[in-house]
Amino acid sequence: MTAIDTGLQDLKRRHPEWEPWLAVVQEVLSETTNPEWDTFVPARTRAQQSKVPLLADITLALDKRSVRRLLENLIRIAHRSGTPEMATLEPALHADLDFLNLFKASLCQDSDRLKEIAADLGADSEAFQAVAALLPVPLLNACNRRWASSKSVSWVEGYCPVCGAWPAFAEVRGIERSRYFRCGRCGGEWQAHCLFCPYCGMTDHNELVSLVPEKSGVTGVIDACKRCVGYAKTFTALQGSLPAKVLLDDLASAHLDLAALEQGYKRPQGAGYSLDVTVTDNGKAWRRFF
Ligand SMILES: [Zn+2]
Ligand SMILES: [Zn+2]
Repeated sequence: MTAIDTGLQDLKRRHPEWEPWLAVVQEVLSETTNPEWDTFVPARTRAQQSKVPLLADITLALDKRSVRRLLENLIRIAHRSGTPEMATLEPALHADLDFLNLFKASLCQDSDRLKEIAADLGADSEAFQAVAALLPVPLLNACNRRWASSKSVSWVEGYCPVCGAWPAFAEVRGIERSRYFRCGRCGGEWQAHCLFCPYCGMTDHNELVSLVPEKSGVTGVIDACKRCVGYAKTFTALQGSLPAKVLLDDLASAHLDLAALEQGYKRPQGAGYSLDVTVTDNGKAWRRFF
């Protein structure tokens, strides 16, 4: 059994009420092992520029059918959950959707565009955005794998060097206690300074607080910033999580998110870096030459 299977089973056991949503997550995680997504990742030869994620200004030639297949699988599984919100996604299975436009909006974390698409479909906005957010995960995991050697080793920004997302959490690893941020979309990692707010860059220790939940048995702390009221969960681990497991670790620590919210802290909405990605259909791109 893989670490992903074990993580999923553990979550289902601890939160049986999450099972419908975990089935959707399970589908997207199993898709991260589909080599088809690797074939859509453009080759990179240039070194990474400072502050610019590898995905910025990229042209992606995707197969619209792959995007459609994944979206429809996720919606079918979400729909089966039986919740009234997920039931509103059903029209997406029959609508004349612009799949590449939707994929681009998800990739760029463009929540305004996703809300518009949800409204056009008559779908529940939050349910639609939750499913749409998973759509680029297999491609982003492939980008993280294929571009591993292109990543700048001196990356110091608060957002992911691959996809520009804010961190899902931080890991403090090993006896050296090196600190890394992890990305819940591409599974990437990047070294993080201690006493540094990823969202506003604050480094003044008087403005940064560590909150330890009082409940016994709770692991992890919340590192929060008094200036921007952003927070990041932090875990101590011997080794970093597998890229595909970051999404599960984030879910498994939802109690810390609740504790942070109760204290008035929040995770910023949207992307850490605004990507300008062009998404084309690789079928169409091929036809253009003949
Ligand atoms: Zn990322
Ligand atoms: Zn801050």
